[in-house]
Amino acid sequence: MIQEPDIARRQHADSKRKASLWILVAALCVGILCGVLGALSPIEAGLHIMRNKLRGHPVSGDIVIVAIDDSSVAEFGQIPWPRSRLAQVVDRVREAGARRIYIEADVSTPASAEEDLALESALGAGKPQQMLLQHRFSIDPVSGSRLDSPPLERFARHGQAVNTNLVVLARESTIWNQPYGVAIDGHFVPSLASIFGGAVGGDGELFPIDYAIDVRSLPLISASDVLRDTWKRSEVAGKDVVIGQTSSGVAHYNAPGYAMVPGIFFHVLAAETLRTGRPVELPWPVPLVFGTVIACAFLFLRNRIVGRSVLVGGLLLVLLVPFVLEHYHIFMVGGPALALLVAAGAMRTWSSLFQSYRNRGLTNSISGLPNLNALRQEARLPTATVIVAHVRNFVEIIATLPTDSEGELVDQIASRIGFGAAGAPIFQADEGIFIWLSDDDCEDTLIEHLDGLHALFRSPIVVATRLVDVSITFGMDRDRSRPILQRFASARIAAEEAALGGRRWLTFDPANLADAEWRISLLGRLDQAIENGEIWVAYQPKLDLATGRIVGAEGLARWTHPEKGEISPNQFIPAAEQSERIETLTRFVLDAAVGAAAAITKRHRPFGIAVNLSARLLGRPDLMPMVQSVLAKHRFPPTLLTLEVTETAAMASPEASLENLQALAMLGVQLSIDDYGTGFSTLEYLRKVPAVEIKIDRSFISMLDKSQNDRIMVNSTIQLAHSLGRKTVAEGVENAATYDELSRMGCDFVQGYYTGRPMPLTALFTILNEEKPGSRLLTSC
Ligand code: C2E
Ligand code: CA
Ligand code: CA
Repeated sequence: MIQEPDIARRQHADSKRKASLWILVAALCVGILCGVLGALSPIEAGLHIMRNKLRGHPVSGDIVIVAIDDSSVAEFGQIPWPRSRLAQVVDRVREAGARRIYIEADVSTPASAEEDLALESALGAGKPQQMLLQHRFSIDPVSGSRLDSPPLERFARHGQAVNTNLVVLARESTIWNQPYGVAIDGHFVPSLASIFGGAVGGDGELFPIDYAIDVRSLPLISASDVLRDTWKRSEVAGKDVVIGQTSSGVAHYNAPGYAMVPGIFFHVLAAETLRTGRPVELPWPVPLVFGTVIACAFLFLRNRIVGRSVLVGGLLLVLLVPFVLEHYHIFMVGGPALALLVAAGAMRTWSSLFQSYRNRGLTNSISGLPNLNALRQEARLPTATVIVAHVRNFVEIIATLPTDSEGELVDQIASRIGFGAAGAPIFQADEGIFIWLSDDDCEDTLIEHLDGLHALFRSPIVVATRLVDVSITFGMDRDRSRPILQRFASARIAAEEAALGGRRWLTFDPANLADAEWRISLLGRLDQAIENGEIWVAYQPKLDLATGRIVGAEGLARWTHPEKGEISPNQFIPAAEQSERIETLTRFVLDAAVGAAAAITKRHRPFGIAVNLSARLLGRPDLMPMVQSVLAKHRFPPTLLTLEVTETAAMASPEASLENLQALAMLGVQLSIDDYGTGFSTLEYLRKVPAVEIKIDRSFISMLDKSQNDRIMVNSTIQLAHSLGRKTVAEGVENAATYDELSRMGCDFVQGYYTGRPMPLTALFTILNEEKPGSRLLTSC
């Protein structure tokens, strides 16, 4: 029964998606709060000022300020000036040809008759709409009621009332915006900026002052110069003029990016702003929507690098777009969007850090899968079944893959296991050991799953663009009464037992416990066994099919345990590989086998010797020195030494291994591809390996007399190998029929029980001494 693919990973993805959703909601709240409370205003202001400096440009010069400055005050008396003096200034300015004149003075209450008359006549001398008069209001701080100060009727008749209330932010007395006008007593009074700027807006509608306009470039003429007539009249001809107070005695406000400036400046700057176009202000929710889209992409895109790039891009846009927009008089409040993006980025980083902190010690550092500590914490006991998958050739595969491919290999294996794990999380113990828990109580169903999984693993997986055969077995523990880690150990033993017994799966049987434990403790005894002489080398003769003579032998490691008897190399070789003892073992076998072959060569004739080379050793830099030193020790010609490398190892050889093989070939050592046919390589592919010999796996040879398919495969392999200049060896020849068939096919060498079982060296000597040319059947042991 096949389940959905890689459910464990999907669960992980689901929880990550949920976390992302929470982060999005939280970041959005941060953005909205910043928008509503204006919490980021100081940062935004700073950025705005920076942009203004970059865009800075002078005023148009069409609005001139006739300033009642400190020198005017010093010369003509304190402010407020009497209306007659103002009238004098108005007259001069009008006579100089000013277009429109605004007089910054409270004319809402009567002064003396003379003063009022003087001003009235100065105003009356102008054209209608030429004179602009101040119409302000004030708010009573206690009652909150508004007090209007419209110009007196006698003045108002000669001019237009304009509003000049400033919108001052309490914080730092800063002025950012100005209104187009306000409704007073049901009557709309446009602002001075609106009139001089030539743009209209609604009641109380504000627009931002563009501070890229350089405040310092405002054209100023001292009122004292005007009164003394020591000024250039042409400076006001055809221009709009503001007669305003700039002396240090009047209120100054903060113009962002500049020093404190008198209030009148803001009206002129606001008017200058409107003259270049009506500014548009994008309220904060607009960029916030954009920020939300970016945050979604960042949080939910599968590809993390793309996600991060989108976030960085989004942040840059929020920072840079205002710069471009302001050029077109569009002012954007980007702070909340900025806050949202920064919050999303920070929360995601924090959550990843927190997650990795939580997972510390709970995951395998290479694969990221939960480990045994995590399994221990999985408090779902008693679970019906603990299942272990044991990848027998895991170490061999890793040794032959490029570095850094282990994660990818585990990924592939785990996702395939996911098909049979029914959505349970998959844990990884040591190399090649995977665990999951099943609540299924029915053994038949479990077995059905495991059989399906086993079948799935029959096709190779692709890692680092290479095809890799995974040899897998399963073990189960169904005894709910014991602690989880004990049950894992039992299931693991069962999986290893299954591998040794050629089974696909096994359920742990406590009766086998003693034996299995003993097998697992083999590793610890290997060094001692070599020292004690329990390890020895058996020699299996290799015959030349053309002559029927023994031309050499394969040295095969043997372990004769004092109590347990013979231990199969199929048990202790993988154990030695896993515990890094394979080098010691190989050195021992190589030394013994080369020593034996040197002795035979000396006594009889040149005698070839083949030794198996573990894939684990292929990439080692000390391989060459080891082979060289053994050859030198026994003064044995390298051409008589064959090193057998399995097909899987040869096919997946990374560069370092290939270099080693090439160096060995250069030395004269013969290389042989062992177990050919069990992997998925083609002979053409194997051409890159400098092998001189192909050793056809015994699984094809043993059925040669019965299977037509195997006959075709063996025959075509022999022909193809010959066409590529390789010799062929058939291993596992067990009967005369096979021997004859191989002879007919033109196979070069044979090895098998029929021509000689692996035997001690003494037995080999006996056979060689008694050998008669053409005799096939040899004494076996
Ligand atoms: P292999 O290299 O394929 O060795 C051939 C195996 O086939 C040997 O099993 C041999 O006893 C067996 N065999 C030979 N003729 C016949 C036959 O006619 N019929 C059958 N059914 N089997 C036959 P053995 O000695 O048990 O070795 C098993 C594997 O252990 C070897 O397979 C090899 O991969 C590994 N091995 C043995 N010694 C060493 C060693 O010194 N180093 C390394 N790295 N691996 C070794
Ligand atoms: Ca071999
Ligand atoms: Ca073989």
